[in-house]
Amino acid sequence: MDKKDKNDRQKRVQFIKNVIIGSVLFLLLLPTLLCIILFFKIGKLDKEIERLRYLKLNTVYAAEQSYKVSQMEKAINSTIVAPSEEDYPDTDEAEGLYAGRVYLTFDDGPGTNTQKILDILDQYDVKATFFVTGKTDALSKKYYKEIIARGHTLGMHSYSHDYGKIYASKKAFASDYKKISSLLTDVTGEKPWVYRFPGGSSNTVSKVDMRKLIDFLDEENVIYYDWNVQCGDAVSVPPDKATIYKNVVNGVKGLGESVVLMHDLPEKKSTVEALPKIIKDLKKGNYKFLPITKNTDPVHHLVSR
Ligand code: ZN
Repeated sequence: MDKKDKNDRQKRVQFIKNVIIGSVLFLLLLPTLLCIILFFKIGKLDKEIERLRYLKLNTVYAAEQSYKVSQMEKAINSTIVAPSEEDYPDTDEAEGLYAGRVYLTFDDGPGTNTQKILDILDQYDVKATFFVTGKTDALSKKYYKEIIARGHTLGMHSYSHDYGKIYASKKAFASDYKKISSLLTDVTGEKPWVYRFPGGSSNTVSKVDMRKLIDFLDEENVIYYDWNVQCGDAVSVPPDKATIYKNVVNGVKGLGESVVLMHDLPEKKSTVEALPKIIKDLKKGNYKFLPITKNTDPVHHLVSR
């Protein structure tokens, strides 16, 4: 009997041991399993965020496009409607009716084409906006000053224009911003107040949420502008002048306000060649050319914040 009791006891002890070891193992494995499941869940959610972000950007573009189409239809179906003061806050009453306001913007300069562009703009009495990068040679400094002296708006387009650097962190963006802002202030004596993000606010390369960079500019009292018309010269081999002309003239049709993206880098020759005809024909079509001012309606790719 004693022996049986001993055996039973041993069995019970063994059973309890197994239960304890089992429980410990289970408690150890449970968090590991949960970690693995959550890890895959996070990956899935990241992809979903990326997909929604992409969808949202497309929606913004689609909204712009459908607005453009509706404006075009309006223009075709009816005679030109007199713009209300609200629609055209920049309109000078004495200058009558306009088909739309056109803001020509030149990015990435100054460069060898800047002088030609400045002369063409003068010839047709057109004021525009130059979003410049940081250059410290004497000629570039001369252009920074001349852009302002000739009545255009001098805007910032980052100091380095190096996407990898400026979009690496908010700190890196802020330090690049400070560099271009103080360079232009030192050279021209005027603090620049308008910015264009390299690649636009909808760029997908930034490692920082672009909203954080927009907030940073906000704190610095700097306004940013994207564009709603492209002349098409952003590619490495720009199209010929006829295509540039068509892109701009068709792009502004039906838009009350067009912010046109152009570049004044040396290789963008066709942009310079197309410019006189763009200005002449749009003027004939009753469009008004203006530089971006603090009263200009913002054109933003990233709309919701
Ligand atoms: Zn650029």
